[in-house]
Amino acid sequence: MTHRSFHPTPKTLMGPGPSDVHPRVLAALAQPTIGHLDPQFVSLMDDIKALLRYAFQTSNQLTLPLSAPGSAGMEAAFANLLEPGDKVIVCVNGVFGMRMSENVRRMGGEPVVVEDQWGKPVDPEKLADALAAHPDAKIVSFVHAETSTGVCSDVAQLCRLAKAAGCLTIVDAVTAVGGVELRVDDWQADVVYAGTQKCLSCPPGISLITFSDAAAARVKARKLPVQSWFLDVSLLMAYWEGEGARTYHHTAPVNAMYSLHEALLMLHEEGLENAWQRHHSMHELLVRGLSGLGINFVVDARHRLPQLNVVSVPDGVDEAAVRRSLLEDYNLEIGAGLGVFAGKVWRIGLMGYAARRENVQLCVSALGSCL
Ligand SMILES: *Cc1c(COP(=O)(O)O)cnc(C)c1O
Repeated sequence: MTHRSFHPTPKTLMGPGPSDVHPRVLAALAQPTIGHLDPQFVSLMDDIKALLRYAFQTSNQLTLPLSAPGSAGMEAAFANLLEPGDKVIVCVNGVFGMRMSENVRRMGGEPVVVEDQWGKPVDPEKLADALAAHPDAKIVSFVHAETSTGVCSDVAQLCRLAKAAGCLTIVDAVTAVGGVELRVDDWQADVVYAGTQKCLSCPPGISLITFSDAAAARVKARKLPVQSWFLDVSLLMAYWEGEGARTYHHTAPVNAMYSLHEALLMLHEEGLENAWQRHHSMHELLVRGLSGLGINFVVDARHRLPQLNVVSVPDGVDEAAVRRSLLEDYNLEIGAGLGVFAGKVWRIGLMGYAARRENVQLCVSALGSCL
């Protein structure tokens, strides 16, 4: 076998992530690698933290990127807040909620699972009932934007209920950030984590996380050290925050941080509200185009995520063959269904740089030809 350089065919990425990466972000990635404790890199780290606070709409001191994908953000949230034996109410309405309960279990916590049907948002009444039935619960966790079902849950209301019952909240905003309204401080969410490859349109591999003062105090008051050395935020902050001298913890993926910085900068330049509005308008354009093809949405209009459109595969259509044809004939990627939705739906992402008029038009016309 001869070995050659790898040159992927450029594709239009309209699945559940990764999404299309902006040329500016790709160019940022290709800049010279510098030392991870170089003063220039340290000042880049400071700027990334400030831009992250903007993206999350928070003034939380403890706000930083983690050198690992969205799943590491989830793991870090539970690893830092949870101590063995802690009861956690986990609201599950799709794949990522299920993963949260698995995290709780593996870390020696006791998950109380509150389930909602796939395609429905987390029901605040069910959470209220669970909080009343489990007054000893310490944490409530749920997913803001459930990528497996295309559903948006009401973060403000769920956090209000949890707070009133004395619980801290863990919110998965991996697909939410940059795509739909998210206000960490106003909504009083405690630990919120996100990813880079969904609506920030940055390559995968980094997660973003923020801790409220109450959550940071809980970490500080732990009886046992955080079970994960790599994800222990108190160690990470000595690297990301340390005044003057930063303590080596791990080597940050330097070039990946350039790309994160550029993506966050672009979001800042556009303005969060404008980015949310753009996702919404492109979603409406897609709804019009797909309804012309007789394709229906699975989720109620009130709870739909504009950035992740879950639609029913029309009767008699081979869903995998259509996806294959889109990829081979149009270089267009859309997503398949997961879990109970496998084989029944397509997931069409309009995330970040992919939320553009020309992408919507390509998707609608290519799907039209395949059907
Ligand atoms: C993609 C995603 C994750 C996991 O992120 P990875 O970068 O794939 O590890 C977690 N939660 C939600 C809601 C996601 O969409």
